[in-house]
Amino acid sequence: MAYTHVAKAYGKVYVLRIGHRPERDKRITTHVGLVARAFGANGFILADICDEHVMDSIRGVLERWGGEMFLSCGEPGKRVVREWKKSGGEVIHLTMYGVHVDDIIEVIRASKKPKLIVVGAEKVPPYYYEEADYNVAIGNQPHSEVAALAVFLDRLYMGKELRLEFPNAKIKIIPSLRGKKVVSLEDN
Ligand code: SAM
Repeated sequence: MAYTHVAKAYGKVYVLRIGHRPERDKRITTHVGLVARAFGANGFILADICDEHVMDSIRGVLERWGGEMFLSCGEPGKRVVREWKKSGGEVIHLTMYGVHVDDIIEVIRASKKPKLIVVGAEKVPPYYYEEADYNVAIGNQPHSEVAALAVFLDRLYMGKELRLEFPNAKIKIIPSLRGKKVVSLEDN
């Protein structure tokens, strides 16, 4: 796939989820996709497999809560990385073995290259460690791909992503100290 065209159409920050196991990862992989959307990434790529349950859940949130994202599944993860780099992009692999995020985030932010952020599941093949431009740790303790992605994107965007308004939303929350206020935007 020509990722330069994709990056031009949608924006420059994509998440590649590798190692998805349909029998046990549906919920966590869906959460990776939802965090990608809510924290300002422009695309979500599920490597090696198409889990329609996961993709449908993410599509459903985009449909109701808005936003435009490149979505893809089934392409081999290693090929995505190879094509991404060939298209002039850079690869950031989130791993507890990497360099502390605070020691590298300014370099990553300053680079104008399209960014592919790779998050794993159980065991990540050495290929990703070797091919990544940056192996980045969200602290050097084991935790979760969802937490790692959220903190990385928050550092990348310096917290501004939490104020994002999403185009084409059908519903929207009116923030309130008590209760739930949700308005429909469809009759406007
Ligand atoms: N041994 C794995 C590792 O290399 O980080 C931990 C597996 S963890 C269940 C699944 C994914 O969460 C990892 O592939 C990584 O993307 C992410 N992750 C977990 N802890 C992390 C940390 N401290 N920093 C960055 N990413 C982390």
